[in-house]
Amino acid sequence: MRIYVADKSDTLRKIAQKFHINLSDLIALNSRIPDPDHPLAGFPVYLPLDPSYSEPGSIYVTPAPVSEGSWIPTSSLEKMSQTEYDVLIVGTGPGGGAVLWRLCEQWRNNGKKIGVVEAGNLLLPTHARNIETMNFKRWFDLAYNSPRLKIPVAGTKFVQLIAVGGRSLVWTAVSPRMYLPPQQWPVPQWEMDMYYRIAEQAMNVSNVYTAGSPINQLFLNRLRNGRYPAAMNLPLAADLEPTRYGEIHSNVFFSSISFLAKALYRKPYDLAVLARAVQVVTEKGCVAGVHVMTPDKRSYVLKAKTVILSASTFGTPRILLHSGIQGNAIGHYLINHSAVRGTFKFNRKDYPYVLGPIGILIPETEKLPYQVLLDGPMGYQFYHDKQTPFQEEMDALIAGFGTVEPRYENKVTLDPYKRDEYGMPELQIHLDYSETDKAILGQAAEEVKRVTSVIGAPLVSLAPDEPIDGDHEAGTCRMGDDPATSATDRYGQIHGVPGLYVADNSIFPVMGAANPTLTMVALAIRTADNIIRKLK
Ligand SMILES: Cc1cc2nc3c(=O)[nH]c(=O)nc-3n(C[C@H](O)[C@H](O)[C@H](O)COP(=O)(O)OP(=O)(O)OC[C@H]3O[C@@H](n4cnc5c(N)ncnc54)[C@H](O)[C@@H]3O)c2cc1C
Repeated sequence: MRIYVADKSDTLRKIAQKFHINLSDLIALNSRIPDPDHPLAGFPVYLPLDPSYSEPGSIYVTPAPVSEGSWIPTSSLEKMSQTEYDVLIVGTGPGGGAVLWRLCEQWRNNGKKIGVVEAGNLLLPTHARNIETMNFKRWFDLAYNSPRLKIPVAGTKFVQLIAVGGRSLVWTAVSPRMYLPPQQWPVPQWEMDMYYRIAEQAMNVSNVYTAGSPINQLFLNRLRNGRYPAAMNLPLAADLEPTRYGEIHSNVFFSSISFLAKALYRKPYDLAVLARAVQVVTEKGCVAGVHVMTPDKRSYVLKAKTVILSASTFGTPRILLHSGIQGNAIGHYLINHSAVRGTFKFNRKDYPYVLGPIGILIPETEKLPYQVLLDGPMGYQFYHDKQTPFQEEMDALIAGFGTVEPRYENKVTLDPYKRDEYGMPELQIHLDYSETDKAILGQAAEEVKRVTSVIGAPLVSLAPDEPIDGDHEAGTCRMGDDPATSATDRYGQIHGVPGLYVADNSIFPVMGAANPTLTMVALAIRTADNIIRKLK
């Protein structure tokens, strides 16, 4: 069975004529629409799958892309709609990728069926920085300035990257652990530590990228001997292993494509691209599958015992709200990092030896609700670009990230008027800072100034982000024990809907100042383990 979204003037009788389907067959499939002349604009209508029905070419075109010859096998939605999946994952960013990898790693050939749907297309087969032609300017244009890749969300400065791999194709890969306040974080620290270790290993997180770099060591010494004994080399998700026994480590920077690849070598799964999930399907209160649409507006129902939404902090609540899933916290408690970003400069004359890169983290602590990052000189991670001209004066980046309180009034809601081309309501986003958030941001800015003074490199610029800016939004499907204040339980399962899970940044109940992806991946792996236990 397929789903067709009715046009303005459609009725069952007109659809039967349009698709050359027997009217009584159509009525039988759509028993909830008893009157064949009832206007159906915007309604989903079930059509039979039988290929003998001819379809007008103006409505349906051949779905793209084709799996043959592409760098990852893909399936068609038509084929996937004939399978009942044990697990169906929506989205292939780090959240969806991590769950997929863990399930495939643990299940191997046990007969369980896994499907994945991704709204975007195959774009890059690796992190953008692993591509040889990429230099700082080209990457900056791709990661920050490209309207083709980065799609603004609801008039804010937040962006989505709708493609296989999600935003991990261009992320900066900074991967510190987060301070998790025990009263507000429902997973015990010992368990988080265990899953952090698994996530760090899977994402190749280490702090050796800048270790031994002379300028980094000099700045670290100044910081540690000054007021920052906790200053450390920046933890990065980068595979720095040398080739051993012919095993080549050439994809240095981690992206979710690594998860998809590792999963593929453990267990086959079906992946449909250009497949936008629009609604979750439930039966008798339990999850039963997902409505998915192609860019040419074909609709399919994919059946699944378990559905995992990993469509991001904005994509996941949008699907849930559009599906009519009830939950007081769904879409609420939107959080982000407050941030100040700037540059500092130094002159090579003062450092007349091999410089090396700078990557330093002054981590958050229980008492310090912000972190400071130093990173540079500009473009240092583009190791292929051997022609970078010698410069006397060099710029490096410095940023302070502060925590933002989770508050009910910061939220995403469905726009009552505007719909996208798939008929999904657009999002409306509201996020502003509390007095506490503003105070923390002010402290982070002061700390950044002190840090540059301790390392002896003058600050050139410093400016705060707006609340609706940056890449660290989270919290719209927060986990917790109380359905009144949380959307999911402590394993990411939506309260009251067995089998429906969330695994992306939206699940954070609170967010420390650390960059979020490592913590989210650790949680996603834990969610996969819980599903494995349940589906035994
Ligand atoms: C330039 C940049 C630098 C960053 N640097 C860092 C960093 O250094 N450290 C860090 O921790 N984080 C960083 N981030 C943030 C990091 O990328 C995100 O935390 C992470 O990607 C979130 O993963 P996710 O799976 O929740 O969402 P995403 O990566 O956004 O993935 C969501 C996926 O779902 C798909 N999707 C959306 N809607 C649907 C739908 N309806 N149907 C099907 N599929 C759908 C999307 O196409 C996408 O593939 C950075 C981000 C950017 C853009």
